[in-house]
Amino acid sequence: MAGESPGGDRGAGDGDGADGGDGTDRPPALFDGTGDALAAIADRLAAADGLSFCTDFDGTLSPIEDDPDAPELPPENRAALEALRDHDRGRVAVISGRELADLRSRVGIEGIAYAGNHGLEVLRDGETTVHPVAKKRQRDLERIVDDLDDRLAGTDCFVEDKSVSATVHYREEPDRAEAVHEAVEAAVEGVAPGGFERSTGKAIVELTPTVAWDKGGALSLLTTDFDGWLPVYVGDDTTDEAAFRALGEEGVGVHVGTGEDTAADYRIDDPSAVERLLDWFRTEGLAALDRSSPRDESPEPSVSPRSSTDT
Ligand SMILES: [Mg+2]
Repeated sequence: MAGESPGGDRGAGDGDGADGGDGTDRPPALFDGTGDALAAIADRLAAADGLSFCTDFDGTLSPIEDDPDAPELPPENRAALEALRDHDRGRVAVISGRELADLRSRVGIEGIAYAGNHGLEVLRDGETTVHPVAKKRQRDLERIVDDLDDRLAGTDCFVEDKSVSATVHYREEPDRAEAVHEAVEAAVEGVAPGGFERSTGKAIVELTPTVAWDKGGALSLLTTDFDGWLPVYVGDDTTDEAAFRALGEEGVGVHVGTGEDTAADYRIDDPSAVERLLDWFRTEGLAALDRSSPRDESPEPSVSPRSSTDT
């Protein structure tokens, strides 16, 4: 439930209560001028074995643009993510609705995990896996995309084939919204009735295989082997809510936007605040992590147990 304690020790002395201080059910603002929320996260990092920093891409790491080909990873965010990756107890995952190949080339950071198509495609430790149901539906999807290309021929609407999902864009012709929705429905019914779910976004219709899997499943998969590590998830869209819910009280969820109707623990305004957040994790966050002692190692963090003997 939004507004609930994130499970850490955010402190009873917040003063303005756990509802963000404005009488609504929204989570508190992370950058509220007091530094209390950041101090609470630092405390949790100082008690954690490591940091799993997971994040959405569009509208989070990069501002939303009209042209889906435009978003790029700002250099400041790249540097911060690389620093988190390079920490010996830090890891990074980017989870997006974009096709895996597109996401990977857009972010372009080696040595991190990626989940594309809302988690239907996952790349980690150099290995790519595709959800088996999504894989089975790829032929059907090809036929649906071909059919939609025909139906939308002569308009400025277009179909983006994302291998295991597809997105129909009609931002150039918003008046066609209803016709596009009808075309999508007809194409799906003609090829694979019930086989694909339709969801609506900003001047888009998304088609994904009907499968019980989402960004929350992807997040759980990517963090499951890291017991004791603090998972963090940052995202701006409704599809990110599944990831916030998957975190539960174990992690820290940060919603980018107004914070209405979110399961996240905190909210920040926009991608420029994400840059600030990443910078905090790169500096203060990693410093807090360095104060912690991983469970399987010596409680003396200044002495590296690995450098003393062999090699
Ligand atoms: Mg997004």
